[in-house]
Amino acid sequence: MRLKDKTILVSAAGQGIGRASAIACAREGANVIAVDINETTLWTLPDECPGIEIHKLDVCDREQIVELAGKLPALDGLFNCAGFVHHGTILDVSEEDWAFSFDLNVTSMFRMSKAFLPGMLERAKTTGTASVLNMSSMASSIKGFPVRTLYGATKAAVIGLTKSIAADYVKEGVRCNALCPGTVDTPSLRGRIAAADDPAAAEKNFIARQPMGRLATVDDMTPMVVYLLSDESQFVSGQAILVDGGVTI
Ligand code: NAD
Repeated sequence: MRLKDKTILVSAAGQGIGRASAIACAREGANVIAVDINETTLWTLPDECPGIEIHKLDVCDREQIVELAGKLPALDGLFNCAGFVHHGTILDVSEEDWAFSFDLNVTSMFRMSKAFLPGMLERAKTTGTASVLNMSSMASSIKGFPVRTLYGATKAAVIGLTKSIAADYVKEGVRCNALCPGTVDTPSLRGRIAAADDPAAAEKNFIARQPMGRLATVDDMTPMVVYLLSDESQFVSGQAILVDGGVTI
């Protein structure tokens, strides 16, 4: 039980990497608080993994976040997973697109971290360590990809935010890292494939850019999530950690 006695909040836990991470953390003994804006998917989580506590939460709503933080116990781990993939070049991105993606992909992490960090700092005084994990991507400051202008910009900002939090709290036991996945087979990826002009070709192209010849599964991500939220990684902070199947070799 690598996360025994830890209280861990996971956002975007209704589906995809967030859901798989919430389940993986619970199976490692954590008291998991799973949040998502989508009640329909979130409500099925305790059936799949009894013991997980669920709350509807819009990570773009500061008041909701502050209210929830006031009700919950201090966290040992915070996984800011929520994010959105905008498809397009810079010429396709509108002011509204830009504002929406930065709000969901970056500002949400600023809000969540501000609300939960004070409790985590208190907790780290007794346990010695606490961990913030922010979801970035290989498409960020690490590597550019076509039609990912806005996504890459937001995920690069996540890495900057991560390193700043890590630098500010390194002496107080709170670590902060960013996870940078390759292309992961999740409901939203399936949606992007289905929305392409030629879905079969789009799927082939996603696979072709993975040197290992396949998409990642959510189970390729969860071991790293558990590691970064556990005490096994207590000497790791400020890192953008790639789990990309070799895309950036
Ligand atoms: P997904 O896109 O399939 O699901 C996202 C979840 O976020 C949904 O359950 C949705 O309801 C929730 N959500 C959306 N807006 C929200 C809000 N305002 N408040 C709370 N929850 C909200 O999940 P995914 O593909 O696993 O992606 C999760 C994260 O991983 C994202 O940040 C994404 O950018 C990142 N990521 C994904 C991939 C990939 O290939 N799938 C690769 C790299 C990084």
